[in-house]
This record gives sequence, C-alpha cells and structure tokens, in this order.
Amino acid sequence: MERTLFTEEHDLFRKNVRAWVDREIVPFRDTWEEANIVPRELWRNAGAQGYLCCWMEEAWGGPGADFLYSVIVCEELARARASGVAFGLHSDIVVPYLHSFGTDEQKRRWLPGCARGELITAVAMTEPSTGSDLAAIRTTAIRDGDHYVLNGQKTFISNGHLCDLVVVAAKTDPRADPPHSGVSLLVVEAGTPGFNKGRLLKKMGMKSQDTAEMYFEDCRVPVKNLLGDEGGGFYYLMQKLQQERLLVGIGCQTAAESVLEMTVRYCQERTAFGKPISHFQNTQFRLVEMATEVEIGRHFLDRLLIDHVAGKNVLKETCMSKWWHSDMLQRVADQCLQFYGGYGYMLEYEICKAFLDARVQSIFAGTNEIMKIVVARQMGL
Ligand SMILES: Cc1cc2nc3c(=O)[nH]c(=O)nc-3n(C[C@H](O)[C@H](O)[C@H](O)COP(=O)(O)OP(=O)(O)OC[C@H]3O[C@@H](n4cnc5c(N)ncnc54)[C@H](O)[C@@H]3O)c2cc1C
Repeated sequence: MERTLFTEEHDLFRKNVRAWVDREIVPFRDTWEEANIVPRELWRNAGAQGYLCCWMEEAWGGPGADFLYSVIVCEELARARASGVAFGLHSDIVVPYLHSFGTDEQKRRWLPGCARGELITAVAMTEPSTGSDLAAIRTTAIRDGDHYVLNGQKTFISNGHLCDLVVVAAKTDPRADPPHSGVSLLVVEAGTPGFNKGRLLKKMGMKSQDTAEMYFEDCRVPVKNLLGDEGGGFYYLMQKLQQERLLVGIGCQTAAESVLEMTVRYCQERTAFGKPISHFQNTQFRLVEMATEVEIGRHFLDRLLIDHVAGKNVLKETCMSKWWHSDMLQRVADQCLQFYGGYGYMLEYEICKAFLDARVQSIFAGTNEIMKIVVARQMGL
C-alpha cells in the first residue's frame, strides 16, 4: 500500500535511519541480548544523528522536526527487530512529560541532554502490588521543607538501568479521596541518595531491553523536581498515554509486516514433498489471511496517525489500535512460526525471537483488557 502521510523529506530521513540501524544495531543485537542491555554509546550516537526527540524544538536542543520523524525511527527499529532499543519510550513517551509539564528551568536543565542522548529517561508507575490500578500505588512522597521524601518500590521499569532521569508516580497525599487525586510526578535523578536500581530482570523476549526494579528509601527529591502541580500526576499520565498506546500500535504493525515478509520468502524457499511449501493451498490461504489483516491494520493505523498529528481526540481509536494491533501481531507471529516447522522453535531464528518479543505487547502500556474497558466507556457502555 502506498502511504500518503510522509513527505519526500520524511522518505529521505527513513533511508538514512534504515542504513544507520542496519550498520549500528543489527550486527550487535545478539551481543546485547546476551547482556540484557544496550550500550549507552548507542544513545549518544542516535542523539548526534538527530534520531532522538525528533519533534523537539531547536530552542530546547531538539532537531526541530515533527512527530512523524519519530514514527519513522520507531518503524525502522521495529523492522530491524531492535526490540531492546527503547528510543520511543524515551523520545515520545517520557520526554514529552518534561516538555509539556516542566517549568522553563526544568526544561533548560534536562531537555537538551535528552535530545543528545546524554540523559536517558524512564517512567516508573508499576509496583509489585499494582500495575493496571495506578491509583492504588503505595510509593509515597511526603513534603519535608524543600524536599519530598520518597519511599517505595517500582518494578518492570524499561530503561531501568540506563536511565539518568526517572519520572516517578508517587502519592504526595496518601489519604486523598479519590485516591488518584493524591498522585504526583517527581523527576528523580540517578545518583540521588536513597534511589537504588535493582537487578536486571530476565525476560522471555525483548532481551536487550534493560528492565529493572527500583527502590526508594528516604530518598530526598528537591521540590524543584516536581513536574506540574502536586496532585496532578494521574491526569498528566492519562493525557500522554494516548501517544504511548499509539507507539505500541506502530511497533506491532511494522513488526507484523516484517515477520510476514520474511515468512513469505521462507515458504517460497523451503520445500516439502518435492515443492515449495508456498505451493500448498493451506500455506497460501493462511498467508493471504495474514496479508489481509496486515493491510487492514496499516490503513487503520495511518489514518489514526494523521488524526493524532492533527491533534484530534483519538482516545477510543488509539485504545482500539493498541489491543488490535498487538493481538494481530501475536496471531501473525504464531502462524508464521508454524511455517518454519522445527526451525521456528530455535532461538537462532529471527522468527522465534519475533514471536517471543511479540508476547509482551498485549501486556505493557496498559493491558489489552484495560484498553477494552476504556473503549467500552467511550462507547457509553
Ligand atoms: C517488559 C515490560 C516493560 C514494562 N515497562 C514499564 C515501564 O517502563 N514503566 C512502568 O511503570 N511499567 C512498566 N511495565 C509494567 C506494565 O505496564 C504492567 O505490567 C501492566 O500495566 C500490567 O500491570 P500488572 O503486571 O501489575 O498486572 P495486573 O494489573 O495485576 O493485571 C493482571 C491481569 O488482570 C487483568 N485486569 C486487571 N484489572 C482488570 C479489570 N479491571 N478488568 C479486567 N481485567 C483486569 C489484566 O488485564 C491482566 O491480564 C512493563 C512491563 C513489562 C512486562
């Protein structure tokens, strides 16, 4: 399908990003998967190329382009199955909190480093006892003079080890009624006494993504690191979740396209009973069904991107995309793996890793069940 949302400049940018990803990331994926982390140098390299925070104005140290450039970076990483390189989380999920809700002083302090890849960011909402029910978090940040004293534990935090700045959701008013009105966002800098990063978590997929626990023990965070208003944290998170869900949709759609393309090639090359397996009617039907779903997914997503960039309220549609595109990728990855037979079960095959990477997509950024709850509400149910 010809895509209409990109300009010639975007296309040229994509060509450069693709060449860079193929050169700087693809040859090292296995090493980084072993290490469960990507090197910090990669971030600086990306920053120097203008591949981080593409949408950020030059005045704040960004490349001064638009969100579609971020979309291209996200798509090219997904195409190359660079599943541990969390540029999207940084550039298009966490940094926008600093950009939208930070004071000028905070922005001056942090944004240029974020765009250069010198400051890597993370967001810490999830706790061992609660994920979907964000208002039930137990981490507290109690005001004491010019500081908040932060106590609590977070888990499953992406960029958890690499991060220099983490936006932490904490209760500044643990007795607030309703509970979500007591949630605030604090920016905690790595190295602050009382902030400890826990172990790197071993995962079934996305193995080079550093996912970690975090501990805060009487961690004194300056009041000047509060983002926005005290008690506004829940609303800020809700505002920005639309783009986070959209990024999941983008990654899943691109991954599905690339998995399918790879599988079509394999089916044409692999022979059984004296002919390519692509000549069996079952193979053709399944590949056609998947190609149809992928095509439908692309149309829906590109429409959604156009509306999102235009600033329209697409809350319902982004939740639809998040659950549908992640489910679709999992169906496609599972069926494609089947065509690889025993090779599909071998970790040295890309299809196997793609299948494992896909599994988390229906879980993080709000589970698919939570997405359907939001859509149901939007439908007035
Ligand atoms: C690889 C990875 C990276 C992550 N990165 C981050 C990160 O950077 N920052 C961060 O803060 N978090 C992160 N998370 C956490 C992730 O967002 C949570 O795991 C997710 O929101 C679900 O929370 P939970 O695991 O506590 O599951 P729970 O909330 O305990 O849910 C368990 C099950 O119950 C279902 N459920 C819950 N409530 C309802 C309901 N009302 N109706 C129907 N079903 C319901 C859920 O859909 C799910 O199937 C990450 C997770 C993973 C696996």
